[in-house]
Formats: sequence, structure tokens, C-alpha cells
Amino acid sequence: MKKVLLSGIVLLSVFFLFTGCEEQKAEEFKQAKHSAVKSKKEPKATFITIGTGGITGVYYPTGGAIAQIVNKKRDKYKIRCTVESTGGSVFNVNAILSGDLDFGIVQSDRQYQAINGLAEWSNKGYQKDLLSVFSIHPESVTIVAAVDANIKNIKDLKGKRVNIGNPGSGHRQNAIDALAAVGLDYNKDMDAEGIKASESAGLLQDGRIDAFFYTVGHPSGAIKEATAGKREVRFVNVTGIDTLLKEFPYYAKSFIPCKLYPGAKNDSDVDTFGVKATFVTSAKVPDSIVYTITKEVFENFEFFKSLHPAYAVLTKKSMLDGLSAPTYICFVPFLYVLVQSFYT
Ligand code: GLU
Repeated sequence: MKKVLLSGIVLLSVFFLFTGCEEQKAEEFKQAKHSAVKSKKEPKATFITIGTGGITGVYYPTGGAIAQIVNKKRDKYKIRCTVESTGGSVFNVNAILSGDLDFGIVQSDRQYQAINGLAEWSNKGYQKDLLSVFSIHPESVTIVAAVDANIKNIKDLKGKRVNIGNPGSGHRQNAIDALAAVGLDYNKDMDAEGIKASESAGLLQDGRIDAFFYTVGHPSGAIKEATAGKREVRFVNVTGIDTLLKEFPYYAKSFIPCKLYPGAKNDSDVDTFGVKATFVTSAKVPDSIVYTITKEVFENFEFFKSLHPAYAVLTKKSMLDGLSAPTYICFVPFLYVLVQSFYT
């Protein structure tokens, strides 16, 4: 009897501790969000911002799709969701951790690296406040090259002018890894540029670069733009990367479906590797907000899927893959997704 009573007390204490923390977290979050608004009235809404990528990528419309679904219920939840175009995954992780963004879309490999204190985070260590919510569409490491530059395989990038991506992007490290896997050093073996992906198509069409890397879902506006210009372009095979796939658990084989880009000079799908786009947040964002967003996306799953062709392959179950950052503080949305996934 004593034991039962004791367990009850312990469980209740944990419950109150959790709800207490959650209330405090929500209050702090609200205060920070509304510190600029000097009004005696209760704040009418909580404003949240989702960090995405360049406007011709898939992250930007993805942030828009999530915001559209959540904002439909603005009267019910009092959440106003806005979307910001950013430099990409690395920028988003850092802005979420510093509190400048509330949510962001981040490549699964960068999520893994941030949470384990690797790559860009090697000096900062384990980024324990980063939390995963769900994963979204697959992304392929895509190399687009000018036909006149005679680049047919990744190895042919030697000696060429190549945009590997801006430092805040997720794809920059993928480019560096892919090049290293075939023995190329981006610093020595080519003229490497660090420009945003939204500018790559224009640079390629203007003859200022020979090729560019972009880790992105398909189809994407940026790749459509690059393959629809006057200068003929093709996708380049990324082969010789077996060791890379063995060494890095977050990379998987992938391909670029060429039929999505009729302007590209490829006859068949192109081999490469890829990651997943994931939706992440910070431990400082109240669970209730994370829960609401997750619930709305999953309850409107078919509508969400209809908002971009890159979501064609999505299932509720697949939206639990590729998450390495913990979901434990947000265990409620995670459980919600898990339960929902069994009904599809
Ligand atoms: N994967 C890219 C990055 O992390 C962004 C792709 C996109 O915007 O769709 O920088």
C-alpha cells in the first residue's frame, strides 16, 4: 500500500514539475515575444517565424505550406506563423538556437551534426536545445553543369568554376564531402565559389560558373530556372561515393528524376546521394505550440501533400525518419505523429 502511495506521489510530482516547467516556458516565450508591445491587454497572438532557404528552393514553399495550414486556425490557436527566406540549414540551426527563429527547415545531416557537435558545431559542442519535430521531403545532392564545360561526372569538376554554396547553406558541406570522396579538394582543385543557391542559375546561364551544387527536393524553382535557359545544361552523376555512404550514416543513395526537368540534356535519371528535409525547433519553444503545428499538419496531411510536388512520396510514417535531434521534451507531438502514422 505504502509503495502504491509513494509511486503515486512520485508520478504526481513529475507531472506537476513538467506542467510547471511548461507553463513557465510558455510564459517566458510569450514575454520575450511581446516585450516590444506595451499594452495592458492580454497579448492577442503569439507570433512564430519559420526559417527556410532561398525563395527558389523547396524549403521556402514548405514553410509557406505549414504557415498556411496553421494560420487558417488563427482564431482558435492565436498563433500567427510567418516565413523567412534564409541562407539555409546551417543558418536556420544557429538562428533557432539563438532564439531569432522559432522553427526552421534543416537537412537531416546538419541536424545530426549540430546535435553531435560536429562540422560547423565542432567548437560549440553538442547543441542540446535543438529538437526535431518531423521530417519532410527527400533532398538530392544535385550538380548542374553547362554542357559546353564537358562535365559528365563529379570528377570532371577538377579545374572548373563551381559554386559549392554559401556558408549558411546545408549543401556546402555535402559538396565538400562529395568532392573529397572522389579525391578533389575544393580549395585547391577548382575555382570554388560560396554564393547562395538562388543566384546559381543566373551565374551558370551568364557563363560565370561552369557548375553548381544544390541539395534540394525535386522539382525546385532553382533547378527549373537553370535548365530552362539558353545555355544547355545537364545533371552530373555523383558516383564513387560508396566509402562516403559507409562513413556517414546520414547519407543515402538517391537519384534525380530527369523527367521533371525537360530542358536538361540527360536521357535518364542521374545517380547521386541525398538526405531529408526536417522540421526543427528549440527546447525554448513551448510544447503546446509545437504540438499545435504538428497536429494541424498531420490532420491536414492530404492538403499539405497537395501543396508541392516534392511531397508526392510522403507518408505520415516516413515523416518520422531522419530525425536525430531528440524529441523528448516535445514527446507529445512525437507520440501524436506516431499514433497517426499507424492509421495510414
Ligand atoms: N538544402 C538547402 C540548405 O539546407 C536548402 C534547400 C531548399 O531551400 O529547398 O541550404
